Amino acid sequence: MARTFIENIAQKLRIIPNIDKKMHQGASSSLRKYPSMEEWDHHTELDAQAWPKQVERNFSLVPTTCFNCESACGLLAYVDKDTGTVSRFEGNPNHPGSRGRNCAKGPATINQINDTERILHPLKRVGKRGEGGWKQVSWDEVLDDIAGKIRDSLNTGARDRVVYHVGRPGHEGYTNRVLKAWGVDGHNSHTNICSAGARTGYALWHHHDRPSPDHTNAKVILLCSSHLETGHYFNPHAQRILEGMMAGAKLIVIDPRLSNTASMADHWVPTWPGSEPALFLAWANMILQQDLYHREFMESQVNWEQYLKAVHPDAPCTFETFIDKLKEEYAHYTPEYAAEECRIPVEQVIETGNIVANSGTALSSHVWRAASIGNLGGWQVSRTLHFLNVLTGSVGTKGGTAPNTWSKFKPELPNEPPAPDGWNELHFPPEYTLSHFEMSHILPHLVKEGRGTMDVYFTRVFNPVWTYPDGFSWIEMLQNEEAVGCHIAMTPTWNETAFFADYVLPMGHASERHDINSYATSSGKWVAFRQPVLREYERRQGNDVEFTYEVNPGEVWEEDEFWNELSHRIDPDGSMGIKKYFMSPNKPEEKMSIADYYQYIFERVPGLSQTAEEEGLSELEYMRRHGAYQIEDATYNKHEKEGWPTPSGKQEFYSETMIEFGYPEHAIPHYKIKSHVHPENLQGDDEFCLLPNFRLPMHIHSRSANAKWLVEIAHRNPIWLHPSDARKLGVEEGGLLKIETEIGWFIDKVWVTEAIKPGIVGCSHHIGRWRRQQDAGNRMMTNTVSIEDRGDGKWRMRTVEGIVPFESSDPDTNRLFWRDGGVHQNITHAVQPDPISGAHCWLQKVKLSLPKAGEEYGDVEVDTNKSFAYYKKWNSWAKDREHHPRGERRPLWMKRPLSPKKEHWFIDQANE
Ligand code: SF4
Repeated sequence: MARTFIENIAQKLRIIPNIDKKMHQGASSSLRKYPSMEEWDHHTELDAQAWPKQVERNFSLVPTTCFNCESACGLLAYVDKDTGTVSRFEGNPNHPGSRGRNCAKGPATINQINDTERILHPLKRVGKRGEGGWKQVSWDEVLDDIAGKIRDSLNTGARDRVVYHVGRPGHEGYTNRVLKAWGVDGHNSHTNICSAGARTGYALWHHHDRPSPDHTNAKVILLCSSHLETGHYFNPHAQRILEGMMAGAKLIVIDPRLSNTASMADHWVPTWPGSEPALFLAWANMILQQDLYHREFMESQVNWEQYLKAVHPDAPCTFETFIDKLKEEYAHYTPEYAAEECRIPVEQVIETGNIVANSGTALSSHVWRAASIGNLGGWQVSRTLHFLNVLTGSVGTKGGTAPNTWSKFKPELPNEPPAPDGWNELHFPPEYTLSHFEMSHILPHLVKEGRGTMDVYFTRVFNPVWTYPDGFSWIEMLQNEEAVGCHIAMTPTWNETAFFADYVLPMGHASERHDINSYATSSGKWVAFRQPVLREYERRQGNDVEFTYEVNPGEVWEEDEFWNELSHRIDPDGSMGIKKYFMSPNKPEEKMSIADYYQYIFERVPGLSQTAEEEGLSELEYMRRHGAYQIEDATYNKHEKEGWPTPSGKQEFYSETMIEFGYPEHAIPHYKIKSHVHPENLQGDDEFCLLPNFRLPMHIHSRSANAKWLVEIAHRNPIWLHPSDARKLGVEEGGLLKIETEIGWFIDKVWVTEAIKPGIVGCSHHIGRWRRQQDAGNRMMTNTVSIEDRGDGKWRMRTVEGIVPFESSDPDTNRLFWRDGGVHQNITHAVQPDPISGAHCWLQKVKLSLPKAGEEYGDVEVDTNKSFAYYKKWNSWAKDREHHPRGERRPLWMKRPLSPKKEHWFIDQANE
């Protein structure tokens, strides 16, 4: 690097050392992106903090994967050989998804593991649940007590009262295998507040319920919201979008908010939330009218004959007829119509429509959360978006959009137990016939209705009290010991849900646990290994480690070993038929070990055995050393061999399933459902649409409050308000607004910005964390609040104190300069279950006003009786028991995360 004139003089005068000379004398004499693999066992570099002294530090570099979003990018832990601790994390260049790069959340893993307030030992509650008293207990005590409770529940014959509720998943199949071994239909997830709306739309087309866009090779990159690209598959996608754009691709971002990605786009299209299907169908109409559709793909892959026979039985059954009928069907979706629905200029509809129409087979498109999870009928967003891929023949092509399953490795597990013998109606109630995932967001209401209870409820890296809508209803459910017999919070860090647990069990961060990962982050297929890096470091030193908590901080454990041990204690003598699934696959008389389990899986990864052998390694050793393995370079056009796993075996433009399950008006893609936040549903000048479901790229929903680098970047969540709306409401930048939802209200500060569409207000998802005076943890990002249960469902939260610096072993905690921790908005949101997809419709109809005297920043009030009544209203829109063709609870061909035995898919079976 060139030195300045002053630096050169200073160097010559020996005022500062000769940096160039010292660098060349030092151990790392040249700048490189990554140390080569040969150095990973022994890497030496100069200690930057000791400069200008030349102090060498020696490291062992151990690969693992990031746990801070789903995409599981590769990390390389720098284990300091002098201290035996992790010094920092960088990217793993061997990881095919992330290719050595990370977003800010990857390296911030070091903050999480060094969190001075982390939970280091198993804790058991003292006093009433939720009061905040805890005592340290041993893992032995935890295992014996919980095992006894599970055994008691199973011995009643119930198969739905032991539940594992997962927030951040990460492991391909481990816990489902455990639940199957226990025989319970006990898997619950967060997906219905996340991606279930988009999944339903995709599944209706081709069973695969996620898209995998090939951004690198696209001609047009079309993002309906940029959720994944700005915060979720952020790093793997962002780098490929850039590659595509550098090669000439056009980027179109549809989002009422100017996200980071939208700010980089060629076209930012700020549609009114929920109107996106109108836009996509107008573009479909343009493609059809200009005959720009891909005839070969359409004719061979789409179930057009089925459509014509059912809907136009008297017309000739030819492809030409099909195209004529399509042109008629979509003729009224004109650019003018779309412009009016979306509240955007018609010229923009036409200009962007022409770009999409001429993308050929290289249209990479994506929608995740945002519009598809925001709106009543949001599942039509993904359905109509995919229609554009079908019309352009860009499904599964190079530069197009493939089903994610083509790029996802599914491991074969040892000694798989049979499917659970029951159906959990608290997770899949009968009226939500097409719900793509568990109806977890209405769980407290289903319990309140008396539809079921739980004996043992595990929440795993899951914080519904804070992350979900209607958190006070969750608090009410968790405090009710008849509804939830025992609540066990498995979490790497304190959270608002753990405050209401019986046990808080400290689980490992990314570098403290085993998992296997594979995600469709690109057009290839890869598998990666998350491993506890200090355990691997000890192994490299020749030291045996039996349990991972021996090397982790305190007694932080990992789930794999926890579930194994717990299962053995539930069924110590094997009489319940559980123990046998937790014995070694190779030595049946011994307990299954971590090494047994993963070696079994990795032996079955296509191509890995040969590659490992070339390095003289076993498959497990290879993964421990490299951290990841590329199984396929590209996964294009798999349908040519595999077909489409739908009832018709085709791409289902026309869905007989929708007709059978009572929705004939939705047999084909359309825009027939106006969102609950459509302008027609907003009255007066003070009603707005609240957009509460966007991510900040440097935060994790509720696990970054202890990551000091991330918190320093962003720590408040003001209301985004367009200047024209600010004038209308008489509020200025930094002023306060009262935001009233259907069930309560909150007071927030205002950020006046043109980055949001007029009529819409935004509030980010991640901030507004809290703890009460008696609670621990996350002090860098949590307000201290008082919570008042005023009886009859009325709750109030008030900020007692904002963020304050504090003494700890990390001097940085005493340097906090921010005081404002934001406001908890989600807790004031009503649950709004979409009657078809089951997804929570995040967008809220809100009234905005200036706060009254006595109402202060951070105040929150909610009435859970109102939230229950509002839930009942939305629930009544779901189909009743008459709409179960052949007695099917839901379509047999659609996915369920953990599928019970087939007979339980029918409504009149055993547990009815
Ligand atoms: S995108 Fe960021 S948070 Fe997600 S896995 Fe990669 S590095 Fe971690």
